[in-house]
Amino acid sequence: MNARTDAGRVEAALARLRQLGERITPARQAVLRVIDNADRADEHLSAEHIGERVAALEPSVHRATVYRTLTALTGAGVLTHVHLGGTGTVYHLATPASEPALEANPAAYGSGDSEPHAHGHGHTHVQCVVCGRVQDAPAGVLDEAARLMREEQGFELDTSHAALLGRCADCAGRT
Ligand SMILES: [Zn+2]
Ligand SMILES: [Zn+2]
Repeated sequence: MNARTDAGRVEAALARLRQLGERITPARQAVLRVIDNADRADEHLSAEHIGERVAALEPSVHRATVYRTLTALTGAGVLTHVHLGGTGTVYHLATPASEPALEANPAAYGSGDSEPHAHGHGHTHVQCVVCGRVQDAPAGVLDEAARLMREEQGFELDTSHAALLGRCADCAGRT
């Protein structure tokens, strides 16, 4: 993503929460700030890592509150998440440019997942099965795959919801 330089992403997320009538709590502000910083550093943080960094910012915020906050903010559409291999999940701030896509095709996402999801936006991720590193794939890398799935099977591929597994350049070179 190249949108890492704009300054007001946390402010924009807070404005959106206010618009939705959602509460602005110290925990929510801390979570947004931690994820914004991680996004800018090209990091992909799990709930556990976000919890650690929030604790450093706001020691009074309990870990369980952080987890609930992640679910609530994802449901409100200000965070997105990506499922990794195994049980991992990492979070990003949702970019305003992605918002129109949220409502664009809700019928395509009838999963039995109980967790709220902000779908249909964001970028494709890949994760190394050797070292666990998560990285962003180039924009549009799965566009052709998505087109083929749509045309041949009528299946709407969600290219940003889960990471694809493989081996990173370092690990592939060593083996
Ligand atoms: Zn690796
Ligand atoms: Zn990413």
